[in-house]
Amino acid sequence: MSYRKNFEIVQLLTVDDWKSKAEDNKINNPVWCLVIESCGDKATFCKNEYFGEGQSSCEFELKTVTKDGVTCPDCLKMISNIKSINIDTKILKKGK
Ligand SMILES: [Zn+2]
Repeated sequence: MSYRKNFEIVQLLTVDDWKSKAEDNKINNPVWCLVIESCGDKATFCKNEYFGEGQSSCEFELKTVTKDGVTCPDCLKMISNIKSINIDTKILKKGK
């Protein structure tokens, strides 16, 4: 059986800085990072950077994708490292 799960990617447009104005914190050439759930909140995969209401003042764009879309070199490197790990699907089924 094979199925594909949707996943979210995020583009952080400004750095998290409550003190200065958003336009002063603009990130040049923003990249799309994989979104992970960290302690119940959304964060970037590569830097575990939280974003969203109550978490960070940074501006961002969130998108749900089915296959690709990640353009962050750090996220891509980590994804590729994980993909090189073989998993025992018997253990996976037992854990359900
Ligand atoms: Zn990233």
